[in-house]
Amino acid sequence: MRRKIVAGNWKMNKRFDEAEELISEIADIIDAQPLDEDIEMIICPPFLFLEMATDIASESEFHIGAQNVSEYDAGAYTGEVSAQMLNSIEVEYCIIGHSERRKYFAETDEVLATKINLALANEIEPIFCCGEVLSEREAKIHFDTVRTQIEKGLFHLSPEQFYNVVIAYEPIWAIGTGVVASPAQAQEMHAYIRGLIKEKYGAELAEDTTILYGGSCNADNATVLFSQPDVDGGLIGGASLKAKDFVQIARSF
Ligand code: PEP
Repeated sequence: MRRKIVAGNWKMNKRFDEAEELISEIADIIDAQPLDEDIEMIICPPFLFLEMATDIASESEFHIGAQNVSEYDAGAYTGEVSAQMLNSIEVEYCIIGHSERRKYFAETDEVLATKINLALANEIEPIFCCGEVLSEREAKIHFDTVRTQIEKGLFHLSPEQFYNVVIAYEPIWAIGTGVVASPAQAQEMHAYIRGLIKEKYGAELAEDTTILYGGSCNADNATVLFSQPDVDGGLIGGASLKAKDFVQIARSF
């Protein structure tokens, strides 16, 4: 179902005590003044903090996601965290295909497709990231880049599986740079992505798909971005590390 979602990607930030404090502050703010019922807030802290986070979330109105998952199911893969493990501590979402994973950890479209399968098989909803680098936009091949990422990462899924996927369009030139896509640029790409889904799975599923924008989205620019017809919310990096800002973004629909 198409939803309004604001998801926070904490990346590799915070010590345990700081993480607990930040999650508790977010919980206190939204417990005192709840979000509108149709808005879903997701927090994606590092693996180490997930169990603490799901405990706090179980008493509040937000959900917890991981930032990554292993491409393997179980076994002798030292240092990995499986989808089964995430499921066993009530993690509901997982970011898959973030540009930092693609770049620094050489995650290919094929690996990402495997991760998507494992997440779905373990009842975890993937938040699948796609987006172009600046040179691709300048060369006017950004639509091709995003189409390839989506086709290779997601289009092997059945319609029933695809129904449980959230997409995040994150132009890489906007991530962590303070340079946000214009509302028109975001809308144009989101509409393009929805069109791809319509071609593959039909109009109903395309309309039902939640497509988030990510890249320097903050409390000042969220309202105008979220008012675009095909922008269903945001994947937020830096601004999700400040409780008040993050909650304000979630109130920006
Ligand atoms: C991200 O890394 O997913 C992201 C959107 O980061 P930022 O909001 O800091 O640009």
